[in-house]
Amino acid sequence: MRLQRLSEQVIVITGASSGIGLTTARMAARAGASVVLTARDDVTLRQEVERIREQGGQATHLAGDVADPEVLHAVARLAIQTFGRIDTWVNNAGVGIYGLAEQVSLADMRRLFDVTFWGVVHGSLAAIPRLRESGGVLINVGSIESEIPVPFHSAYAAAKHAVKGYTNTLRLELEKEGAPIVVTLVKPAAIDTPFFDNAKNYLSGTPQPPPPAYAPEVVARTILHCAQKPVREIVVGGAGRAFIGLTGQLPRTSDRLFEATMFAAQTNSGPRRTDRAGTLHKPGEYNGEQRGQWDGYVREHSYSTALALTPTPRLVGMALLGAAAIGALSLLSSASARHNVARLATDARERVRGRALSSRASARLPANVRVAPAQRATGFVEFDERLAELPLLS
Ligand code: NAP
Repeated sequence: MRLQRLSEQVIVITGASSGIGLTTARMAARAGASVVLTARDDVTLRQEVERIREQGGQATHLAGDVADPEVLHAVARLAIQTFGRIDTWVNNAGVGIYGLAEQVSLADMRRLFDVTFWGVVHGSLAAIPRLRESGGVLINVGSIESEIPVPFHSAYAAAKHAVKGYTNTLRLELEKEGAPIVVTLVKPAAIDTPFFDNAKNYLSGTPQPPPPAYAPEVVARTILHCAQKPVREIVVGGAGRAFIGLTGQLPRTSDRLFEATMFAAQTNSGPRRTDRAGTLHKPGEYNGEQRGQWDGYVREHSYSTALALTPTPRLVGMALLGAAAIGALSLLSSASARHNVARLATDARERVRGRALSSRASARLPANVRVAPAQRATGFVEFDERLAELPLLS
C-alpha cells in the first residue's frame, strides 16, 4: 500500500504533551505534517499548538482522558473538521506503576489498564472508520514489555502484552476485509522520557530506565518512518531486541538474568518525589518535557532499529554499493600511489634541484634519502639521484 509523504499527512497523536508523543508531534510538524494533539493537559497542548503555528506548522488539539472513548471520537471529528482527513493515528498515551504484584492495589491496576490498554482500543475504534475512508496507518505504541516480563511492572507488562494481542488481531481482521489500513506495533526499549517520574511509585527507590536508555527522538523517528512505509511491528533499541530474543529462545535463562539484574537496575537512591501518586489520575507535572530526569548515558541512535527498517532490496543494494565503494577506493589508492611514484621518478630523472615536493610525497621518502627533518616537514627537499632507484618505483 502506498502511503503519503509526511509533509502531506494529517497525524493524530495521543499522549502528545510529554516524552515520545511530544517529540513525535514536534518532529512531524517540522516535517510539514498537520498534527492533532491530545492528552489531558490542556495548557501544555495549547502552548505546543501555538509554538508549532509560530514556526509555520499546522496544529490543533483537544484535551481529554483516553480512558473515555468519547474523547477519542471527538478528537477524530476535530481532525476531520480541521484538516479534512486522517492519514496516521498514533495511540501513544500510557502510564506506569512501580510496585510488586502483590503490593499494587487492584484499583490502580485497573486504572493503568483503562489508560494503557483501553486507551489504545478507544483510539483504534475512533481511528479505523476514518482511516478506512481514505487509507492510512494505525500505529499502536506497545513496549518491549509486550514480549518480556519486567519486575515491578506486573500491570504495565500485562497491559502492553494486551496491546500486542489486540493490535495483531486487529491487523488480521482488517487485512482479511481488505481495508486500506496498515496496522503497526511499535515496541520501544527503555526511553529517557518523564515516564519514570510520572509513574505511580510503591517502591522505596526512585524509578529509572534500566540502562541502556534511548532518546525519545529514536522512537519518534521510527513512528514517523512507519507513517510513511508499511511496517508490521518494530522494536526500538537493540538492547530491547536482545532481551526479547533471549526471552524467546532461553526463557529460564532470561528469568534468572532479569531476577539478578532488573530489580536493582530499575530504581536508584536519588531524591524521592513527594508526590508518589504519579499521573494515573491527573496530568503530569513534567509535561512539555521530551526527556526525563535520567542523568546516565542516553543513546541518540539505534543502528539495529535503523537496519530493521531498511527493506531487504535496499540492504542488498547498500551491500553492493559498499563493496563497489571499497573496490573503487582501493583502485584509487593504488592509482594515486602509482601516480605519486611516477611523479617522483620523473622529478628524480630530471634531477631538479631545490624544487618543491608535495608534503605527501616528501612523507613517502624512505630514510636513506638525505632530507633534513625541517625539509621533510615542509615538503621542500633537495632531490637526490638515488630517488630514481627507490624500490617503490618498480
Ligand atoms: P510520558 O512522558 O509519561 O508521556 C505519557 C503521555 O501520555 C503524556 O502525554 C500524558 O499526558 C499522556 N497520558 C497519560 N495518561 C493519560 C490519560 N489518562 N489520558 C490521556 N493521556 C494520558 O511517557 P512516554 O515514555 O513518552 O510514553 C509514551 C508511550 O510509550 C507510553 O505508551 C509508554 O508506555 C510507551 N513506552 C515508554 C517507554 C519508556 O521507557 N519511556 C518504553 C516503552 C514504551 P497528560 O499527563 O497530559 O495526560
